[in-house]
Amino acid sequence: MQAEIVAIGTELLLGQTIDTNSAWIGEQLAELGVTLRRKTVISDRVDDVRAALDAVLPDTKWVLITGGLGPTKDDLTKNVLNDYFGGTLEFHPDVYAHIEAMFARMGRVPGPLNRGQAELPNVCEPLANAKGTAPGMLFQRDGVRYVSMPGVPYEMKHLLEAHVLPRMRAESDAHIEHRFFMVQGIPESELALRISEWESALPDGLSLAYLPSPGIVKLRLTARTQSSDEATALLEPAAQGLRAVLGTDIYSEDWKTIEEVVGERLTAAGQTVATAESCTGGSIAALLTRVPGSSRYVLGGIVAYANDVKMRNLGVNEADLLLHGAVSEPVVRAMARGARKRFGADWGVASSGVAGPDGGSAEKPVGTVWLAVSGPGVEWAGRFQMGDNRERTVRKSVLEVLNRLRGFLPEAPVKY
Ligand code: AMP
Ligand code: MG
Repeated sequence: MQAEIVAIGTELLLGQTIDTNSAWIGEQLAELGVTLRRKTVISDRVDDVRAALDAVLPDTKWVLITGGLGPTKDDLTKNVLNDYFGGTLEFHPDVYAHIEAMFARMGRVPGPLNRGQAELPNVCEPLANAKGTAPGMLFQRDGVRYVSMPGVPYEMKHLLEAHVLPRMRAESDAHIEHRFFMVQGIPESELALRISEWESALPDGLSLAYLPSPGIVKLRLTARTQSSDEATALLEPAAQGLRAVLGTDIYSEDWKTIEEVVGERLTAAGQTVATAESCTGGSIAALLTRVPGSSRYVLGGIVAYANDVKMRNLGVNEADLLLHGAVSEPVVRAMARGARKRFGADWGVASSGVAGPDGGSAEKPVGTVWLAVSGPGVEWAGRFQMGDNRERTVRKSVLEVLNRLRGFLPEAPVKY
């Protein structure tokens, strides 16, 4: 089955907004085995929208249109589609009631422009939008479906997930199934080398993709078969083979994040964690507390940027700071111990590094980071070279130290 995207928005062409919608849709379609043939990015102009619709490829069955559905004058998608498919606008009381309810939750009442959002072409199937005021619209002509969705990414995602993907899945002839294996701290090329023997031996019907992001590589194993049973028969032994090679370097086998896995393990063990952060500036604590329910196991943290704070609040020795510097093994170890003690936590994690762009030296170039974990019967510290990008250095450091902590925690029992 073939699909294409029409992304409407002058801001997308001006480079003010990046067309993340298409990227996300592309990923979703790939998972379903739907072939995305083309994406077209156009401005908010009637002629351009009409031209894009006229130019849809002959074999396309789904045209996914995003953008231009807001309440203001520059949002013209609805009117263009109404004209294009020869309809008239009709007021939908149920859509308006939903708009009123959304406004009420923010203590506001809708204005006249919002009332217009409840007027929809009588030639479309309205698609309820629980996340926003503009409904989606589904048009059909000659066996081709045209779906119009708002440009706001989370509204578009909601509409696609709720109304479009299920229909595509039902129509798709291929059976596609994925398994994900998440690995942290191993560069893509090194990972590829480690699993090359396993990868070369993958049977027909299975394929592997590397999906890297700073600090993390997601391995996606895809089965293309006729049935779910066939997919399982292919995926199961391959997954076992990969586990045999990578072992506990796989921190999660679904989309779970490191902070979620750490949270599960701490919760299962009834243990707590505290942070002492220099170069990560609170980002370890921020990531840990992004997980709902993290108040069960995160006690607190100290951002100890200044040496003075490292000494006063974490008990780091002045002699160690003078002798070894703030970015050093004894200091980061003392920080992790200090956090643990100070907060009465089972585990302390710490960071100290040269995030850059300034402050590097021959001995400790920009990107040098020391990380430490201190816990019951465990103390670990490691030196890393995270590169010369400040933001990525922080991100990679946070993931690294949390993944180390994960490694020291017993696996959480599987919940059913
Ligand atoms: P619209 O539905 O055109 O009013 O768009 C609403 C918001 O979504 C605006 O802030 C747009 O910049 C943003 N947006 C529109 N299209 C896209 C897209 N393809 N990718 C990411 N954001 C978008
Ligand atoms: Mg727009």
